[in-house]
Amino acid sequence: MTTFENAQKRLEKALQHLEISEDALDILSQPKEALQGRLSIRMDDGSLKSFTGYRVRYNDHRGPTKGGIRFHPDVNLDEVQSLAFWMTFKCAVTDLPFGGGKGGVTVNPKELSHKEIERLSREYIRVFYDFIGPDRDIPAPDVYTNAMIMGWMQDEYSKIGRKSTPAIITGKPIALGGSLGRNTATARGAYFTIRELIKEKNIDPKTQRVAIQGFGNAGYYLAKFLYDDGYKIVAISDSRGGIYSEDGLNPNDVMKGKREKGSVHDVYCHGSVCDLGFKPLESKEILEIDCDILIPAALENQITKENAPNVKAKIICEVANGPTTPEADEILIEKGVTIIPDILANAGGVTVSYFEWVQNKAGYYWKEEEVEEKLKERIIPAFQRIHTIKKEKNVDMRTAAYIYATSKIVDAIDARGTREYFKKA
Ligand code: NAD
Repeated sequence: MTTFENAQKRLEKALQHLEISEDALDILSQPKEALQGRLSIRMDDGSLKSFTGYRVRYNDHRGPTKGGIRFHPDVNLDEVQSLAFWMTFKCAVTDLPFGGGKGGVTVNPKELSHKEIERLSREYIRVFYDFIGPDRDIPAPDVYTNAMIMGWMQDEYSKIGRKSTPAIITGKPIALGGSLGRNTATARGAYFTIRELIKEKNIDPKTQRVAIQGFGNAGYYLAKFLYDDGYKIVAISDSRGGIYSEDGLNPNDVMKGKREKGSVHDVYCHGSVCDLGFKPLESKEILEIDCDILIPAALENQITKENAPNVKAKIICEVANGPTTPEADEILIEKGVTIIPDILANAGGVTVSYFEWVQNKAGYYWKEEEVEEKLKERIIPAFQRIHTIKKEKNVDMRTAAYIYATSKIVDAIDARGTREYFKKA
């Protein structure tokens, strides 16, 4: 089954609790526009190398499409289309005036020099210039792209158009029109959702053992927020493996070590031998570790029907997009695991991206506390809305989130006129 078919299964499940027109269903079944391009750049050795890039605009009924650009060797159209689909529903969950889009380049950025990455980032904009735009499709960072890359991209867009256009892209460096609080936004949003759920369940954070797969922007800051709040971080992993400590890990020390040594595993382990109290983990082993809260914060399709029966956590907070397959979902629901779904759990990122876009358009910039307060005002009510639907309809949180988001998107489709309305004319 493709990732896109998996993604659509979530909508199908929500549709059992909603009545929507055939016309709306048809619109939501395929992306509005998808573009594939060949990005050719001069390599440092003088050769010309080409990479495949994508940009998909899934649905724009609620506003311009919004979604990140991923640089990863596994990027393909199926993945980009799925990510654009999720973005459509994520923007609707938090009531942002955006549709969903996504982009990517099939490349291993770890094999490129800084100069080559700059050329590739600028080439992406040259190829997709006519497809994107501050009122049409607004990119942002995703896996293995960062603020600096967003800065190069907005610079290239502004140069081609011969006018400064900061609102073309979000997640930019502060000096180039980025928003304060954007780099911690995804993690902060996820932290609010965990905090609300813990409150609902009457659980003391200090009793909670947390495992985090993926120690990049989102995984690191979330580990930090939870650690500061008294949660015990027992396991952390990245693409090269991970570590476990029953006594708990300080994410600040792990990040410091990762920066020095290159991987989480190498912070406390030397080959297969680890310091006292630390255990090495294979990258996927972390998903089955003994813990209370599991946070997949790396890539999609990590929790599958094969490993879901072995998941020990009682709560999963999906910081990554699409980390759980639909089959795994059913197994986990059966086991009584509460999943905070990706389209709610990681919506903090796009929410502050929206704030960045608003600030760029207004040319007026907010203080960090203001951004954080406004983020809280969006995420906590979104969590409460979804939790209320979950209780009222007796469904899992993902289905509740899709019910809400779908109804919002369908409202925007129907507001332009329904079949019934036009039949009467
Ligand atoms: P990032 O590039 O900063 O970090 C990715 C991390 O995942 C790295 O630590 C990498 O080593 C690790 N990783 C990669 N493959 C792995 C594997 N097989 N096993 C374990 N770890 C692996 O990316 P990020 O911005 O932190 O994004 C992480 C996830 O969160 C992605 O799914 C992304 O789509 C999602 N997300 C991010 C944001 C954001 O604002 N950063 C917003 C919404 C969703």
